[in-house]
Amino acid sequence: MGWLSREPARLQESSEKKAIPSGVWEKCPSCNEIVLTTDFEENHRVCPSCGFHSRLPGEERVELLIDRETFYEWDHDISSTDPLEFNDGRSYHDRLKTLWKKTKRYDAIITGAGLLEGRPVGLGVLDFTWMGGSMGTVVGERIRRLFARARSHRMPVIMVSSSGGARMHEGLLSLMQMAKTCAAVAQHRDAGLPFISVMCDPTTGGVAASYAMLGDINLAEPRATIGFAGRRVIETTIRQKLPDDFQTAEFLLNHGMVDRIVKRQEMKDEINNLLSILCEPQDLTQPK
Ligand SMILES: [Zn+2]
Repeated sequence: MGWLSREPARLQESSEKKAIPSGVWEKCPSCNEIVLTTDFEENHRVCPSCGFHSRLPGEERVELLIDRETFYEWDHDISSTDPLEFNDGRSYHDRLKTLWKKTKRYDAIITGAGLLEGRPVGLGVLDFTWMGGSMGTVVGERIRRLFARARSHRMPVIMVSSSGGARMHEGLLSLMQMAKTCAAVAQHRDAGLPFISVMCDPTTGGVAASYAMLGDINLAEPRATIGFAGRRVIETTIRQKLPDDFQTAEFLLNHGMVDRIVKRQEMKDEINNLLSILCEPQDLTQPK
């Protein structure tokens, strides 16, 4: 009968866990430490206990990198026309509409210009919390325009990516964005302007296989997953077991695919240092 007496105790424990008010505490998915939400947010969603970097919403990423009240967003009103009238049990059009109501954003990307330690920069942020940060026609077009505008103002570009890859709801049109964004990077490079790519967790699929790996400097956040196909797909295809740290930022650093791993709290200083080396003095002027 011992198990009968143990069962209520377990139920009690689980109801105690549920009693923690939501929104006050956060539980670190890596070390299970319970952290006050305010402390967690002030630490830019990095666990103060183990340093785990949680995913950061796009707006908070802009705040992290750009000087206060200097960011001006570009092209925020571009939205997808759902060209394939895609439906996977729920229509793509409905998904977009719901996300718009929830976030007041038409798509997974924020692009614009602002000052980084007083230096004008073009910034793009791909936000995983918006449909997995997937790259469809809107994301691709906003990246293209970001590079074009930054080029006309002689500004460097920083792209911060957190994405599952191309957006299946837009089929081939989303795959075309890979070539389009790569062409935009090439034009920027031909104009002699720097591009710094920051890869966050996760940067995978068509985003990792296009512009995100083409930075003059490729930075990554600690322990970010970065890769093209998923681990299981590769293991099944090559019939080999992959190393435990395969497709982590650390693995890519060791194999020359990433130039530096930078903690979130140090990212702004690091980018500022790099830009002070990469930018010519005439690029420091305010946009005309
Ligand atoms: Zn932790």
